[in-house]
Amino acid sequence: MNKPLLSQSVIFIPKPLDSGITELGLKFPAVMLDAHIAEWRPKVAKRIPSISELLIVNPVTYYLLYKNTPKSFKKLPYPHGATFEKLHSEPEFRFEKLIQSSVEYQLAKKADIIVAPYFFTEDDNSAKFNLNLTMLSETIQFLQNKNIKKPLFGMIYIGNAVLTKGLSVSNIVARYTDGEYSNAVKGYFVAIDNFDSRMEDVDSLIGLTKLIHLLAKEDKIIFAKSIGAFGEVLGAIGSSGFVDDKETMSVEYLKEKTNYGRPKNRLYIPEIFDNANDTEVQNIKYKCNCLACNGSVAKDVVSKKRHSLYRRTDAMNELSTQPSEKKVSFMKNRIDQAIDFIDYCVKNHRSLFKKTHLLKWKQVLESAEVLAKTTKNQD
Ligand SMILES: [Zn+2]
Repeated sequence: MNKPLLSQSVIFIPKPLDSGITELGLKFPAVMLDAHIAEWRPKVAKRIPSISELLIVNPVTYYLLYKNTPKSFKKLPYPHGATFEKLHSEPEFRFEKLIQSSVEYQLAKKADIIVAPYFFTEDDNSAKFNLNLTMLSETIQFLQNKNIKKPLFGMIYIGNAVLTKGLSVSNIVARYTDGEYSNAVKGYFVAIDNFDSRMEDVDSLIGLTKLIHLLAKEDKIIFAKSIGAFGEVLGAIGSSGFVDDKETMSVEYLKEKTNYGRPKNRLYIPEIFDNANDTEVQNIKYKCNCLACNGSVAKDVVSKKRHSLYRRTDAMNELSTQPSEKKVSFMKNRIDQAIDFIDYCVKNHRSLFKKTHLLKWKQVLESAEVLAKTTKNQD
C-alpha cells in the first residue's frame, strides 16, 4: 500500500520567507517554497524539509515573461531573456532549457512533488493556455524518460474573468483532466489573478468553487493559492487545502517597476475571517490562546505571523476531522458565528468590522450544497 500523500483531508500550506517558521515547534503537512526564495534564502530552504512532511518547490516559471522580477529569480537555471515566441515555437529548446531544468531544480532542492512549469494566462482561449497543457505533457514525458516516480502537479494560474464564464470553467476542467492527465497528474494548484476573496461578487466566488469542485471530482488533489481566508471555505467544498500566499496576486506588479509596498502589520482574526489593525484589535479587547498570543494578543510582526500560522493550522486540522458530507454545514456554522461576533462588536464596541464578505461566502456555501447534490445525481 502506498502511503497517502496528505496526512489529513484538508491542509494549510505555509509559504515561509524566513527561518521563523522553523522555530515554532510545528510540523506542517506541507510547505511551499518559491524557487527564487530558495535562492534568496538558501539556509531557510535547507531547514524546511525538517518541519514539513511534504516540500513543494513552486518553479515560478511565469516570471520569465515579465521584466520586473526579483533579483534572485535570475539565479534560477532558466532560459532568461527567451521570448514567449521562442519558447512556444522551439520544442527542443523548451524541453531542455525549461522542462528539464525546472524539474531537475526541484529535485535538487529535495521537493517531494513535482510542479510542471507554467505561465500565467488570461483565459482558456490563448496560445499560453495551450502551451501550459503542452508543457504539462512534456513534464510527464520527462518524468517517464527518467523514471522519476514523484507525484506530478500542475499549476492553473488564470485571469479572473473566466470565473463568470460557465463554458470556460467546464473547458478548463475538461482539458486538464482529459487523456494522459487523468492518470499521470496527481493534482493542481489553482491561482486566480487579481482575485480578492472579500471584494469579489458572488458570481466570481461561485465560479471558483465550481472550478475547484469539478476538478476535485475528477479525482485530483486541489490546492487553492493566494486566496486569503476564503481558502478555509474552499476546504469545505472539495479543495485539499490552501497555500498561505499574498492574499491577492497580480501579474501587474511584474510588468514594470512598481513599489510592492510594505507588508501591512495587521493581525489575522479567525473569528471574523479577516485582518484587523492594532486599534481595532484593542477596541474589541481581543484575546487569543494560541502559543504566540498566550492568552493576550500578538503585538509585533513576528508574533502576528506566528499567530496566523498557529490559528490557520488549527482551523484546517479542525475542518479535517469533519466527515466530507459535514464539512459544508460545519463551515456555514463557523461563518454564522463570525457574523454574530461582528454584530456583537459593532453593537458593543462601535467596531468598524464588516460582514459583507461573510454574507457572500455563506451564499457560496449554500450554492455548493446544491452543486454537490446535482453532480451526485449525475453519477
Ligand atoms: Zn494568537
